[in-house]
Amino acid sequence: MGKYDLLFSDIENIKFRSLTSASIKKLRILGINSLYDLFYYFPRDYENSSVYKKTVDLLNGEKAIVKGKIVYVNRRFLGANRLMVVMYLEDDTGLLELIWFNNKFVFSNIKMGDEIVVSAKVKITSRIQMVNPSYKKVYEENLLNKKMSLEPIYPLTKGMTQVKLRKIIQDAINKYGYLLQENIPLDFLYDNKIISRNIAIANIHFPEDKKALDLAIRRFTYEEIIVLEMNILKNKYLLNRNNRKLYFTEDNKKLVKEYISQLPYVLTKAQKKVITQIYKEIRDGKIINRLIQGDVGSGKTVVALIMMLYMAENNYQTCLMAPTEILATQHYNNIKEEFSKLNVRVELLTSSVSAKEKNKILEDLKDSKIDILIGTHSLIGDKIEFSNLALTIIDEQHRFGVEQRNKLREKSQISNVIYMSATPIPRSLALTIYGDLDVSTIDELPEGRKQIKTKYIKEDEIPKMYDFCKSMLKTGIQMYVVAPLIEKSTKLIAKSSEELFEEIKSEFNEYNVCLLHGKMKNDLKDEIISDFKNKKYDILVSTSVIEVGINIPNANIMIIKSAERFGLSSLHQLRGRVGRSDKTGYCFLEMSTKSEVAEKRLEILEKTTDGFVIAEEDLKLRNSGEIYGTRQSGFSDLVLLDIVENIKQISEVKDFIYQYLEEKDGKVGNEYLLKDMEYKKNRNNGL
Ligand code: ADP
Ligand code: MG
Repeated sequence: MGKYDLLFSDIENIKFRSLTSASIKKLRILGINSLYDLFYYFPRDYENSSVYKKTVDLLNGEKAIVKGKIVYVNRRFLGANRLMVVMYLEDDTGLLELIWFNNKFVFSNIKMGDEIVVSAKVKITSRIQMVNPSYKKVYEENLLNKKMSLEPIYPLTKGMTQVKLRKIIQDAINKYGYLLQENIPLDFLYDNKIISRNIAIANIHFPEDKKALDLAIRRFTYEEIIVLEMNILKNKYLLNRNNRKLYFTEDNKKLVKEYISQLPYVLTKAQKKVITQIYKEIRDGKIINRLIQGDVGSGKTVVALIMMLYMAENNYQTCLMAPTEILATQHYNNIKEEFSKLNVRVELLTSSVSAKEKNKILEDLKDSKIDILIGTHSLIGDKIEFSNLALTIIDEQHRFGVEQRNKLREKSQISNVIYMSATPIPRSLALTIYGDLDVSTIDELPEGRKQIKTKYIKEDEIPKMYDFCKSMLKTGIQMYVVAPLIEKSTKLIAKSSEELFEEIKSEFNEYNVCLLHGKMKNDLKDEIISDFKNKKYDILVSTSVIEVGINIPNANIMIIKSAERFGLSSLHQLRGRVGRSDKTGYCFLEMSTKSEVAEKRLEILEKTTDGFVIAEEDLKLRNSGEIYGTRQSGFSDLVLLDIVENIKQISEVKDFIYQYLEEKDGKVGNEYLLKDMEYKKNRNNGL
């Protein structure tokens, strides 16, 4: 060992010529404080020096990069404060005229005889020109490696140039590269044909070609995942080991079986698989911390109910939290009768419960008289004491922040948590990496589910659509009309829900129409939903409060107004309210402002009902910075890893690590890996 530690010691202790004390100051600004940091300061891009065009080959209007020597420099003042700098760049085929406007700096920066690379659109009139090109000096180019065709481009700071940094890194690799001992467990390295660390470090900074670069990137991506996941999973492993036998002496399934047998349907294979997975985890004494992903309508609720029932009949309490009171109430109404027949007591805590009732519920909860508590996510903030809470289920977890999640874990000693989500949105993806969340996927819809027909409706097609809706309403099918939440005061094109309500009432004057929006009292909301469910109304006009979870199978048509104002995942969720029976569901998307991008997004919805595909497209349409919603929580360390792109590699690594830890009883055998893990963990303030 010993020598390996040099990697992590302060950069002051490292000696080679290009590493002057001035450059050390600059490196620190870039966050480089050790050799390790320097080696892992990967280029943000590479420049292919063979892409330079010759001036003789330049075409009018094309964007090109040209390398040459400055042979003429002049400036002109064009009246009030306007400066024009003119230079000629010469390569071995001709002259290129460069013009900058109002750029004093370029005039002082570039001198006669300088070799530079310029890049801009080419303009050919009587001469060949570039206006305001970007440029870079290349006087020391290829000093480092004559053969090199891909040059690294690093993020820089003032006073540090590409050339200097390249030299420093090259020198560091030459002198200390050998220190980089293999930190990927060898079995994994060989099985996955991963190139060794020494070779990879040289190739990621100074690749000979694209192939070498790709292999190096692949290697460090794996390495990054391993270091990250080993930290997470090791802790999890130890936690689990210490908790084994802490709970679950019994394994009764009588009520569960009874409940399943009276369901009006058979569980899908996917549902059964997830249930079995969780049973096994409980039996193995593992802490459950699992995300259940399943597209809208895939039947996640029943999985949750079965787990709660299982806990109840083994004398444990559970808690189910939903994002809205409407949904919490729906869950409650769904199970209270069925479960009370099985002698399992379920209670609901919402804001409409009186203080007196609430106190009673809290008392009974503490006295083990209640088995299942249902409420909204706000339960987390409340001071609720369970006598033996064993499992908490969070429905629609994409509405559920990391903060809340931590609070929740503090609540009970054995913090078993199941999150359910229809959309694998960035946050949940991130959680699967940063948190120790396991993921189960319900990748199958119940049999007989009809597709949802989705259509983007142009303005002139609205009457036709209304006719169609009327013909459907006539057969007794109900309909949702959804609009984004709009304040009356804003002067936007989109209508307020009240205006829309009036419009729909007059358009569909033969039918009963009701209105639901977020500002209503909860009692009223519940009443409207339940009246709609009982067919007192044919049409429900609503804001997106119905987005999540509402299950009214007879309501099978949905019109979404101003659809461009919703995110794709929201639209998918909304649409999931229809197509919940054995009949085809219909979803019509209207736009209130024309936009090409918006049209593209709606087309994605027309094409697919696969929530995972939609989530991916949604990700692509967002800026990728958002994916790392975790940056602010200190995980700024991801260099190569892309949580979405590398999801497959991540799960490969996780599988490997589980087995590795099992074999090694929670110890990390590779001392180099261990050091790296510790170094990164400390740098991240403890993962
Ligand atoms: P989500 O996964 O979106 O939460 P739900 O749990 O609300 O979906 O289920 C949607 C509907 O499908 C419910 O009416 C439920 O009773 C029904 N359902 C669940 N599982 C099955 C199944 N295996 N076969 C048929 N219908 C099912
Ligand atoms: Mg649901």
